[in-house]
This record gives sequence, structure tokens and C-alpha cells, in this order.
Amino acid sequence: MSTPAAPEAGTITMFSTTWCGYCRRLKGQLDSAGIGYTEVNIEEHPDAATLVEQANGGNQTVPTILFPDGTIAPDARWVRDNIRTETLPIMGRVTCHRLMLTQLRGALQDVVDAGLASSLTTYDGCYVPRFIERNPENSISLHTWGIAIDMDAASNYRGIRGTMNPEVVKIFKRWGFRWGGDWRYTDPMHFELAALLDAPKG
Ligand SMILES: [Zn+2]
Repeated sequence: MSTPAAPEAGTITMFSTTWCGYCRRLKGQLDSAGIGYTEVNIEEHPDAATLVEQANGGNQTVPTILFPDGTIAPDARWVRDNIRTETLPIMGRVTCHRLMLTQLRGALQDVVDAGLASSLTTYDGCYVPRFIERNPENSISLHTWGIAIDMDAASNYRGIRGTMNPEVVKIFKRWGFRWGGDWRYTDPMHFELAALLDAPKG
């Protein structure tokens, strides 16, 4: 799929329609704040409409905003209904999709119970609306919906084997997570929700 390029530094891209009252209001706010923007009417640009659907769980929500760093602002109501911040074992305060928090808590508690808490150190983001690698040429990242978590990013960046403890990986898989370390272009910091479970597998 071809996607619109990221906007120039200091400006944003606003996806809108002719009938969108919120878009008109936002344009007024941006004008009075002196923030430059490019408006893309999704009724006229099917590629942009597809991108907006991807960012908003299948809905053509407008306005949707694309920032120069490849981050996206999805629909505020969706965020309010689905994104939660809770305090979890090892990681502390984490902001994720509500459906992921139970499984993430279970996995992290099992890591603690297995005596492996010291093998995980940093929380590097869960709910972060953006394209993969913040590049609009890529697909929209699962972090956009808060259903993937990055941990210990400093020693587990893309393309390397990384330092994830295999026992920790095993625990996360039992709790329904897919591990980026298994991918051909590895992403060992990354665990994403692959199945919704009430209890761990096996
Ligand atoms: Zn990730």
C-alpha cells in the first residue's frame, strides 16, 4: 500500500472530509496557534482513507492527525474507551489497551514468581500511536492500539539477537504473546498480543 509521506518538520497532516465539523474547528485552532498543516480530504484520496481506517480500528475517523515523527493521533473517543494505565509487576506504570493488561500482568507476575524479575529492567512503551519504526512507508504499528510492549530496548534493538531471557520469552508466549525476537528481522524488545486468553496456555 502506498501511504502519504510524513509531513515536513514543524507541520502536520490532517485527514479530513468536507462534512467534518470537528475538522473545521481544529483548522481554526491550528490557524490561531500558527501551526502549519496540510489537509488531505480522504474522500478524494483512497490511500489516505485506508491509512485513516488502519489508525482507527477500521473506521474512517476524522480528523486524524499525522505528525512529522511518524506518530499518529487516533480518535480521542476510542483512546478514552480502550487505553488504560495500570501499575504492573516489574514494569511499574504501563499504558496499554485494556484487553492486554490482564495478560501482561499475568506474564510479569509469572516472571516474578519464577525468580526472573531482575532479567527485565526497562519499560519502553506500549501505547504509542505510530508507524513501524516511525516511518509512514511502513504499516501502522500494533503499538498504535496499545497491544504490544517494548522492554529493555537498549540491549534488544532491531536486527540483533538481544538479551531476552529464554525463560521470560517462554512465559510471555504461554500468556498469548508473540515475540519479535522470532522474526526474520528481529525485534527482541517487542512482545505483541497474539491471542486473548483468560489463563495461560499449557
Ligand atoms: Zn515494539
